[in-house]
Amino acid sequence: MSLKLCQGNKCHTYKTKDRLKGMQGSKTFQTRRRSDFYYGNDNFCSLNCQNDWFNKFGDQAINHFGRTTQAKHLTEQNAWVKDYDYNYRDQTNPKSNYRFVNTITKEQRPLTESQYDDSTYTLNESE
Ligand SMILES: [Zn+2]
Repeated sequence: MSLKLCQGNKCHTYKTKDRLKGMQGSKTFQTRRRSDFYYGNDNFCSLNCQNDWFNKFGDQAINHFGRTTQAKHLTEQNAWVKDYDYNYRDQTNPKSNYRFVNTITKEQRPLTESQYDDSTYTLNESE
């Protein structure tokens, strides 16, 4: 099990017992180290740490990846979402009837399980 560090830039400044680490007599408050984090796509130990990071680096990140400068529009061309019926009776295939649903036109199109699981597979022409 590999441990990773919380990416919060102020994580070590929160004086909690679990952050106090080191040899007796020379303990310091340290960045949290865990196998899994529940916040920020598994990068932050708490919402506080995620907010600290965003307050410091959020503007830079948005500018780096492209700031939204025009309102986006939901149209028939980008309104496809993946959906399925959960079948409690058939536990060998509980997610049956995979499909695309267009949230504007309500049109449905069939989808295979692997297409459903493929996060890059979409019918949308833009985001
Ligand atoms: Zn943290």
